[in-house]
Amino acid sequence: MKCDILIIGSGIAGLSYAVKVAEKRKDLNIVLLTKEKITSSNTELAQGGIAAVTNLVTDSFEKHIEDTMDAGGGLSDLKVVKHVVESAPKRLKELIEYGVEFCEDTTGNLELGLEGGHQVKRIVHAKDQTGSKVEEVLSEKIKTYKNITIHTHFCAIDLIYDHESIVGTKVLDLKNKLVKVFLSKITVLATGGSGQVFKYTTNPTVATGDGVAMANRVGAKISNMHYFQFHPTAFMESEMNPLFLISEAVRGFGAFIINEKAERFIFKSDSRGELATRDIVSKAIIEELKGSNQSEVFLDCRHLDSNIFKKQFPFISEYCESKGYNLKERLLPIIPAAHYQCGGIEADENGRTSINNLFAIGECANTGLHGKNRLASNSLLEALVFAHDAAIETLKIIDSINLNFSETTQVIILVKEKEAIYRNYKLKIQEIMSNKCSFGSEKKQVILANSALILLKHEFLKNYEPRKLSVNSIEIINLFDVALLISNAIAKNLG
Ligand SMILES: Cc1cc2nc3c(=O)[nH]c(=O)nc-3n(C[C@H](O)[C@H](O)[C@H](O)COP(=O)(O)OP(=O)(O)OC[C@H]3O[C@@H](n4cnc5c(N)ncnc54)[C@H](O)[C@@H]3O)c2cc1C
Repeated sequence: MKCDILIIGSGIAGLSYAVKVAEKRKDLNIVLLTKEKITSSNTELAQGGIAAVTNLVTDSFEKHIEDTMDAGGGLSDLKVVKHVVESAPKRLKELIEYGVEFCEDTTGNLELGLEGGHQVKRIVHAKDQTGSKVEEVLSEKIKTYKNITIHTHFCAIDLIYDHESIVGTKVLDLKNKLVKVFLSKITVLATGGSGQVFKYTTNPTVATGDGVAMANRVGAKISNMHYFQFHPTAFMESEMNPLFLISEAVRGFGAFIINEKAERFIFKSDSRGELATRDIVSKAIIEELKGSNQSEVFLDCRHLDSNIFKKQFPFISEYCESKGYNLKERLLPIIPAAHYQCGGIEADENGRTSINNLFAIGECANTGLHGKNRLASNSLLEALVFAHDAAIETLKIIDSINLNFSETTQVIILVKEKEAIYRNYKLKIQEIMSNKCSFGSEKKQVILANSALILLKHEFLKNYEPRKLSVNSIEIINLFDVALLISNAIAKNLG
């Protein structure tokens, strides 16, 4: 199968890029693949919103830039930060024009929420379901372009590298149980994050770091994988995967984090208390748990106006109530959970990776925006900005690319699921990563984790039959590769 552009992933990055290229060049043959249904993505779960300067009386680009640099521990690339922050109002306006309905205040202006690390209210949101509203609009919009072909339940396996360029991708068609080869002039990885490498995560099961693993296997530059963001307020239900997120906006609204003695202990670490950045709040919780031998701390919403709370956070309120937690009366058990991959495939200001004709956008990319810690609600924004810039760059270069590669074989394969075995390997990877490569891990532990992962991968590959592929076996290999990238990066940076 040949196409001009192959997009892998249907979150905000892949969908908005698709719209941009399809709109400008109706003659291009664009294919978008996704592992499950279109909406299975991190984007679908995003609650809080999109950070953008929209009120020039209370806010400014300078303040948003300052907050992003501060959250990133000074390691963000200032040029990239400025570009993203200054592009935000334009990209947001486009989403509104596409039909995304954000909340408005009584005067008809965008209603702005507050989240940790932001000096002022600047989070544009659609109640507490911003991501799913964006997915809904974008996934409908791409269906209106005749030059985009969408394949759901197609899992990309590996990139095809030829003469220093990416020329296509090997893909598992899950419905027809076939491996297919898609040849493309441009390949765009928009595969999202890798939270599933850890035991407790807010990321859906599709977030297995496939894009990073595939890019790594063809030698693309990968960086900052040791900067994994843990969200401090995931609702602790021990058998749940993913854990349900309690948006940072809930703390912005006034919720407290307390220990079993009802102390607001975060203030011991930072004068901003619950509104310090995520890395600080998560670290404070982990230290509190270690010191007290407890397995969870609590989110206290009992003092908040429950009518306004329910109006502002209907989705969160409903979920908690369905689990027996009326937040006006009960404390909610919470723990930090793996939430966002700050590093990834190195991508320049136009989304180009270190390999010709391969782009990376969204959470799978490391653009330099986040440094060591992402500022809340900057990631949907980053995906929008880089999808736009990558689309412009694609259109500049696409006509100069010749596709001479001609492998179009389709291999019939036996898909034989070995559910129990795969589940076991996944759990082992998650145990190793959570116990030894998480917050505050010591170098000795990380090195042990690294060796354990190498041995386990070796054992897995001994029994692995490439002709008996399944999405689970593909994901396990990717989880191993991502876990090794993370543990290696942590070990290196612990000195
Ligand atoms: C619970 C939660 C709440 C969040 N809240 C916010 C928020 O309020 N504001 C904010 O800015 N950010 C938020 N984030 C982060 C944000 O949602 C993500 O960073 C962003 O949505 C990433 O978009 P993306 O398009 O890069 O990836 P995703 O939305 O994750 O999409 C990746 C796509 O790639 C597909 N895919 C993966 N591997 C393959 C493969 N091998 N073959 C084919 N397809 C594949 C997936 O199925 C999926 O469709 C939140 C994240 C979570 C988990």
